[in-house]
Amino acid sequence: MARGGRGAAAAAGAAAAAAAAVRGRGALLLARAASKVGRDGGGLLSKRKSLGEAVERLAKAVDEGRDGLASWLVSGGEEVVIDVEALRPPPNHREPYDVIIVGAGASGVGMGLMLTRVFNLDPKRVLIIERGEKVGESFRRWPREMRFISPSFNNQGWTASFDLNSVAYQTSPAYTLQSAHPTGGEYAHYLEQLADSGELNIRYGTQVTDVQPVRNRGFKVDIAPAKPEGAEDWAVDQAEATTLRSRYVIWAAGEFQYPRKETPPFPGSELCRHNSSVRSWKDLPGDDFVVIGGYESGMDAVYNLTQCGKRCTVASSTAFWNVTTDDPSTMLSPYTLDRVRQAFRTAATPPRLLAPLRVLGVEKEQSGGGYIVRTQWGAPVKHPGGEHRTPIHEEDADMEETGEEGTEVELRTPQPPLLCTGFGGSIALGPAKDLFEWGEKGSGCLAGSPLLNDFDESTKTPGLFLAGPAVQHENLSFCFVYKFRQRFAIVADAISQGLGHDTEQTVQKCKEMNMYLTVFSCCKGACGETC
Ligand SMILES: Cc1cc2nc3c(=O)[nH]c(=O)nc-3n(C[C@H](O)[C@H](O)[C@H](O)COP(=O)(O)OP(=O)(O)OC[C@H]3O[C@@H](n4cnc5c(N)ncnc54)[C@H](O)[C@@H]3O)c2cc1C
Repeated sequence: MARGGRGAAAAAGAAAAAAAAVRGRGALLLARAASKVGRDGGGLLSKRKSLGEAVERLAKAVDEGRDGLASWLVSGGEEVVIDVEALRPPPNHREPYDVIIVGAGASGVGMGLMLTRVFNLDPKRVLIIERGEKVGESFRRWPREMRFISPSFNNQGWTASFDLNSVAYQTSPAYTLQSAHPTGGEYAHYLEQLADSGELNIRYGTQVTDVQPVRNRGFKVDIAPAKPEGAEDWAVDQAEATTLRSRYVIWAAGEFQYPRKETPPFPGSELCRHNSSVRSWKDLPGDDFVVIGGYESGMDAVYNLTQCGKRCTVASSTAFWNVTTDDPSTMLSPYTLDRVRQAFRTAATPPRLLAPLRVLGVEKEQSGGGYIVRTQWGAPVKHPGGEHRTPIHEEDADMEETGEEGTEVELRTPQPPLLCTGFGGSIALGPAKDLFEWGEKGSGCLAGSPLLNDFDESTKTPGLFLAGPAVQHENLSFCFVYKFRQRFAIVADAISQGLGHDTEQTVQKCKEMNMYLTVFSCCKGACGETC
């Protein structure tokens, strides 16, 4: 009940709604979070005001918007706290949960906060299921030396956008972690802080094994204790399995834990080691490696192996280090290129970058226990580089080796070749695969991607939403945090409306936060080979 709210309610006619709503831990929480970043949530948080004035503004806020940011603690000699629960419509369905989110990574945590702290869904009715023992399990599994390629900088307030790696407005990994390119472990720490302070409802050590739509509406979500990391022949112990029910499901299980084993398929790929299984390049036994794949993961391996004094040879079907496109998701990041140059110029044994070289197969050596990677040189490809791309790194041309088209080359390595060919992803390789329609196989960005409507909802299974790097629209891939976070509010809006919430004001707030992207005409890069 109100702590001193009575006199205040009398002070402003419109304050009745506010005065009736005076409890709620979530309110206190947001107040603390907002004061931490130096903002006052509308001017009420940090300044002492007369109670009458404060409540008047409070009541106005209630009138104007039901967004989570209206959860204010007012200090004016007496305290008044808006009870966000009183602003929620009662459940309009019979399921015990409004939403189950699969996965507590960047997408799951960001979605959870968007739903509960911005769109004001009841946190008890939004459950996140996470197979790891903490949030950010994929990031904890990154090789110790791997870092974010997208830079973090706390630029909120001075620019239209904010820290590229933030999953929630008014937060910044650069600020929290004091790092421009955080490691996976550091980033997991940032996510953990957000999940804790947002009091997200997360069930850990639990794996979603199946999702089934229920005929009328809603979902059954089968869960079981998580598969131990690395276990191959793991089966669900039926005695410990159980089924939850929810009105909506958001699939946010990511990609990293679902590596692509064969792209392109070649015999012997099972003899290779996928880069996602490497915990530390330094601790990886051996000192002479063949890396298959020359994109971000491959180049990260190259840099880190050479930093540890290990040799490496890259076989790549494309010379990605020469490619320029207008989308930063489809070319090597400047951060990676800088590191590869550094490796090439400073390592005792510079890496060998071979392209275009296609892998035909991998075999074990008859004797000696090593591996043979059979490859073939492809047709030379000219990468024009783009009109405005100034070739100031003249030495880059020396980095790569090319060969005569059609010629076969055998690369030998004592260690299993490192497969850096990307990720199949949790939708294609997980239990929800059949709940999505899929783009035609072939080339183009939408080829083989899950088909979504305008709200990132499966075109095949209403009520099942997708969040994270697998989201694609109009040939645009939302594979970076700064891209996919701008779809959280679209999903939250669709779900909140389905639950009977009035979302108009909240959507407006999200647009002001740069967290509500529906018009894609702006999503073009600056320059590429095309400009
Ligand atoms: C190697 C790599 C580097 C990247 N670098 C960058 C970068 O620098 N900048 C950038 O913006 N983006 C980057 N990305 C893209 C993107 O930011 C990451 O993929 C990010 O992890 C996506 O977040 P997510 O929450 O969707 O997936 P994840 O972080 O993978 O989270 C998924 C969560 O779901 C859990 N889970 C999985 N399956 C189940 C299940 N069946 N039941 C229960 N829980 C489950 C996992 O344990 C995990 O915690 C990178 C991606 C990769 C793969």
